[in-house]
Amino acid sequence: MNFRELAEFFDKIEKTSSRLEMTSILSELLEKASAKDIKKIVFLCQGRLGSNYEKTESGLGEKMVMDAIAKTTGFTRKEIEKEFREKGDLGLVAEAFAEQKKQSALFSKELSVEKVFDNLIKISTREGSGSKEVKLKLMAELFNSASGKESRFIARIPLENLRLGIGDPTILDALAWNLIEEGKQNKEWVKQTEKEMQEKKIKEKEWKEEFERRIKIKLRENIEEKYNIHSDLGSIAEKLKEKGLNGLKEIKIQAGIPIRPTLAERLNSAEEIIKKLGKCAVESKYDGFRLQCHKEGKNVWIYSRQSENMTPMFPDLVKAIQELKAKKVIFEGEAIAFNELTEEFLPFQLTIQRKRKYGIEDKAKEFPLKLFAFDLMMLEEENYMKKPFIERRKKLKEVIGKGKTIELTKSIETNSSEKLDEFFDSSVSKGLEGIIAKDLNAKYIAGARKFAWIKLKRSYKGELTDSVDGVIIGYYKGKGKRTEFGLGALLTGIYSEKDDSFKSIAKIGTGLTEKNLSELEKILKKISSKKKPARVESNLEPDFWVEPKYVIEIRADEITKSPIHLACFKEGKGLALRFPRMISVRSDKKPEQATTEKEIEKMFEGQKTIKEETPD
Ligand code: ATP
Repeated sequence: MNFRELAEFFDKIEKTSSRLEMTSILSELLEKASAKDIKKIVFLCQGRLGSNYEKTESGLGEKMVMDAIAKTTGFTRKEIEKEFREKGDLGLVAEAFAEQKKQSALFSKELSVEKVFDNLIKISTREGSGSKEVKLKLMAELFNSASGKESRFIARIPLENLRLGIGDPTILDALAWNLIEEGKQNKEWVKQTEKEMQEKKIKEKEWKEEFERRIKIKLRENIEEKYNIHSDLGSIAEKLKEKGLNGLKEIKIQAGIPIRPTLAERLNSAEEIIKKLGKCAVESKYDGFRLQCHKEGKNVWIYSRQSENMTPMFPDLVKAIQELKAKKVIFEGEAIAFNELTEEFLPFQLTIQRKRKYGIEDKAKEFPLKLFAFDLMMLEEENYMKKPFIERRKKLKEVIGKGKTIELTKSIETNSSEKLDEFFDSSVSKGLEGIIAKDLNAKYIAGARKFAWIKLKRSYKGELTDSVDGVIIGYYKGKGKRTEFGLGALLTGIYSEKDDSFKSIAKIGTGLTEKNLSELEKILKKISSKKKPARVESNLEPDFWVEPKYVIEIRADEITKSPIHLACFKEGKGLALRFPRMISVRSDKKPEQATTEKEIEKMFEGQKTIKEETPD
């Protein structure tokens, strides 16, 4: 495909403010893409140059992009900088200057998607002396042959700011839509769907549309199931393009490729947990960071909760994993800094210092980590994800043995709420966060929040028992003393899994220190616009909208009904956070991993039960 054509599609996607239209444009694009290009196109739609778990930073800053624009258009750096200050988006700047080039391009050639992608990959992998010049040359080569529109996107990709707002769920939907004819040939699905529809007494005139809708859901579920065990949408799209639905059979759990994590539900008391699960495993909840560890021979990969490759950050853990007897294994655990002398767990603020690019060895000595293993997904050639938890745990114990750095999470099995409470208290007294109860018979459910795991945390007096992870969707300019920071308050939303959108839940002005304010302003300004992004739903109009990208942890006193906010909107009212305060930026979460509408609804319901049960 020519890059010109891709840029036309991107332009249409950027202009739409409807998620449905976005899916339809995207499905047309993916339908047109050849088997050779589709992987690259999917990555570019994600604003990346590789799968979710591959590092693809370009190492190209705004200054170098401006140099490349200057080099190919004949305008000066000063002129370009001025335009950038006004427009705030180098993509638009590159477009404007490309359209009024002062010098005619030598050796200008039609750009293919492949050429643009390959140059950008070369830019991202080039390191060492002279790399700056090479990067600049490769970028200029692209600008030299690009039209205005093409330049807009070429400038944005290496800056990791494509501004299209396409989420992975939209890509999954678009892929599913394109397989509809094949889906309609699947005899088993057709039989099942017709039966469901007869039971629901679907009217004849709605039959065709409803039938297609249900087949699309089935297709999407099948694709997503594979995505959950193989975080690489590009390769999945490629397999689908080459072999249709049959291609999915070739996607298997594999050492080195992250699995999307299973997530915990919440309940408010030991009684509720026992009522829900009966006899269950109860484990201490460690407040560190979740790591997914993969080993194959001497090769080790460590992934974060977001499937980012963190292997180089933890040489101490890599060594401990290499020493495990198993040849091939995938397991998960929580890493936490631990003081061997005092046998104390260190607070999260200290553990988090181990997430760093420089000074790794020094920090490893200062804050040694302990990894508390809690689940097993693969051992040698066997997939453990479908086996019951109790079996996985037993095997995990054999795999981990009695290591110094890696050990199993503390755990009991019980069907008594008193015992659960006792274990909870003893965990909390050791400085841990609470407990996670686990269904003994549940499979490992990748990428989903189900009652297979239930968390119960320390409660904070007068506050919601759990914090909410909101996504920044807009901001307001500062007033009074805050004017100097430009940013006064944040508009935040939560994630709606149903609509793949972000719905407003709180306007936050507190919890933000002066340092927070100026740092946040810098990063938000880069992704702000006057137009509401396609996947954002809000009746409040902030001074600037921002593309949903950053997740922040919010504490609040309670969840209340609200005529203003659109989260969980029903019968003219939504839900809002009362007295919201920002706690931190959660850089370990993607916007789609923020608290969901479903969770907020449950927290709201849970809060009502607590209130009803607590005498004033
Ligand atoms: P969530 O992961 O549910 O979206 P979150 O990131 O805010 O929410 P928590 O609410 O703290 O995390 O609860 C789940 C997390 O607890 C897990 O993702 C994992 O990192 C951590 N954890 C700590 N101890 C355990 C354990 N024993 N078993 C499973 N997870 C544990």
